[in-house]
Amino acid sequence: MHLSETAHRRRRIGQTRLPSASRQEILSDQRCGILVVNGSLPTFGGTMSMTKSAHTTPPLDAAARRRAPPVLTYSVEQLPSLDAAFYNGARAELSKVTELMVPPRDAKAFEVRAGHFFRIVSVEGPQVGDLNLWNAHDLTERFYSGKTRALHATHLSTGDRLWSTFPRLRPMATITHDTLDWYGWDEDGAGVHDIIGTRCDPYSNLLLKGTEYHHCCHSNLTRALVTARDLSLEEAEVHVHDVMSVFMCTGYTRDTHQYFMKASPARPGDFIEFFAEIDLLVALSACPGGDCGASHSDDTAKCYPLKIEVHRPRESALVGWQSPSPNKYSRSHGTR
Ligand SMILES: [Zn+2]
Repeated sequence: MHLSETAHRRRRIGQTRLPSASRQEILSDQRCGILVVNGSLPTFGGTMSMTKSAHTTPPLDAAARRRAPPVLTYSVEQLPSLDAAFYNGARAELSKVTELMVPPRDAKAFEVRAGHFFRIVSVEGPQVGDLNLWNAHDLTERFYSGKTRALHATHLSTGDRLWSTFPRLRPMATITHDTLDWYGWDEDGAGVHDIIGTRCDPYSNLLLKGTEYHHCCHSNLTRALVTARDLSLEEAEVHVHDVMSVFMCTGYTRDTHQYFMKASPARPGDFIEFFAEIDLLVALSACPGGDCGASHSDDTAKCYPLKIEVHRPRESALVGWQSPSPNKYSRSHGTR
């Protein structure tokens, strides 16, 4: 499937299919007006507070207020257009520049020159990978998952771009192929290639379990950046940011809007391909959750390596192409 057709298909899915009952909703049981989720009673002030009776009286026009029509927050049609013919032409003939393996429960960093492609390939078994992108010449410009989510969607696929932080706000990479683009949105409302989950980290783990675990994606990415840029742990850690979770299948429960994960549908041979719009430093962690179907932040899940391939297109395929320039906002913020 070519890039433009895929992008069109995703838009169509997004507009016409609403997620059906979530797994939590299926497991839930309405008794005496109290919602029971996974067999446990919600408690006041806890994560289930939105599922309990409201403590305030709805205004008389509550129903009318709720009927306000939703509108897409951003007019994505106004984004710089995607030249599908260019990307399809560039990827038509590729030569491999580098290949490396990311070991389970660890991360690797590598550089990708602007105009080159990189692929993350599933090998041996289903495995989630947490991805960080930086401008190779300035680590303060990095992937901005929040704005990318707002501009595209909670999960990314072919035709979507990975945007950088302010003040540059420009495409760092464009997704040019995704063998899992058939997945769409499933019956639980989940999709693949998550940009809502931030990354597993030792701080949340300590908070929730009371134990230290050192191979969360956050720590793996930190160590990879230490090695790649010869930084101290403290210097590197502040550059690690919210990820794109490649191959990860996630969503929000329909009843409580809580973040959930389910086993990745990726199988050996599946891959997602990116075009580097600027010179990139990339880091990828093979998540300790493996396929993230049951747990993370521990050593219980079966984990597999992930393969990285960097490819160069024909030089002639890049003729006329220019790396996107930083955002042109004046940065006056109303002061002049
Ligand atoms: Zn992880």
